[in-house]
Amino acid sequence: MSNVFYGSRLKQVRELMGFTQTELAKKLEKTQAAIAKIESDFTKPSEDTIEKLSSLTGFQPPFFYAPPLDDYPLGSLFFRKRQSVSTKKTNEIHKWGLTIFEIFKRLLEDINPDIKTNISPFADKSPKLAARLLREAFGVSPEAPIKNLTKILETNGVFLFSIPVAYDRFDAFSLWTNNKKSPVIAILATEPVDRLRFSIAHELGHLALHQNTADLADKDSELKADLFASEFLLPEESISTVLRSNITLTSLIQLKPKWGVSIQALIKRAENLGIISKRKSQYMFTQLSKRGWRKKEPASETIPKEKPRLLAQLAEMRYGVPINFSKMAQDFSINAHLLKSIFNGYSCRQDSPNQSSGKVLQGEFGNQISMLRKDQIVS
Ligand SMILES: [Zn+2]
Repeated sequence: MSNVFYGSRLKQVRELMGFTQTELAKKLEKTQAAIAKIESDFTKPSEDTIEKLSSLTGFQPPFFYAPPLDDYPLGSLFFRKRQSVSTKKTNEIHKWGLTIFEIFKRLLEDINPDIKTNISPFADKSPKLAARLLREAFGVSPEAPIKNLTKILETNGVFLFSIPVAYDRFDAFSLWTNNKKSPVIAILATEPVDRLRFSIAHELGHLALHQNTADLADKDSELKADLFASEFLLPEESISTVLRSNITLTSLIQLKPKWGVSIQALIKRAENLGIISKRKSQYMFTQLSKRGWRKKEPASETIPKEKPRLLAQLAEMRYGVPINFSKMAQDFSINAHLLKSIFNGYSCRQDSPNQSSGKVLQGEFGNQISMLRKDQIVS
């Protein structure tokens, strides 16, 4: 542990907890100006303040003395920031992402793998073509439904972060980090699975089509990411043989489990492909609203839940199954309760031994890990 208290660490923790400087000051019996000075490294907090801070937030003192990470841009959050989402909420979500990224990085240090991503820059391609090329690069058949989207992305080098924050005006965000080598998609753990899958595919579209923040600022970038997501999850070739002009809400409910998307996404897709008219689409959306299905659709439980796996897999290799959170808390200076709330969003081995909790790391990389596990990883 260094003897430097980093003001930016205080800011990270404060924003992650969703506090303004004034709110935190009140809880620590300080003034807002005192907090601002500590955050900008003008003054250092007393031991007593650090103690209080630690019991209030769950981050132990050594956390504030560890050099912060710097390469973690806002990515597609930058775009959200200019829309309806408040800056405070944006910061909260961003700081969770940063904190989880740091845990990832440290767990990966042990094995130092060379994780390669199969996402190429497709800025010059149409969303539809990019979606098709990416299916091919990921080894997914061009027309089949995608069963486990999170697993496909993780095995293709996309880091998925599950953020333990509930917020209904926000689904997901994406960014390139690690000197633009690592693609990240961060999702909110509480999102219903049908919406979640579409949000993930939308962010995948941003990663493929808008690798620079400047591309994200393009006014059509949202529309393009949606088109990408529709083609990626519901490829035109196969879905146009399934969706007919006489579709009803009941017939769409039956398609949900197979394609793993919401009724709303299916209606939109039928409209975009010209299978139904805009008028019919509007009519169907009115029907959805009348039944209260805009907010909560029926049959969402027919789609298997998806949770990212890689972070939990790495933690299990080092801290056992189930993960020994007290031991992990000591190493990371983050209390066990907080760590558990993070890992709730991940698929752990004891949750469902036969399903989604299989290995993400496979092949050569998997072998490297098992070799290291025997000799070097201490649990
Ligand atoms: Zn977007």
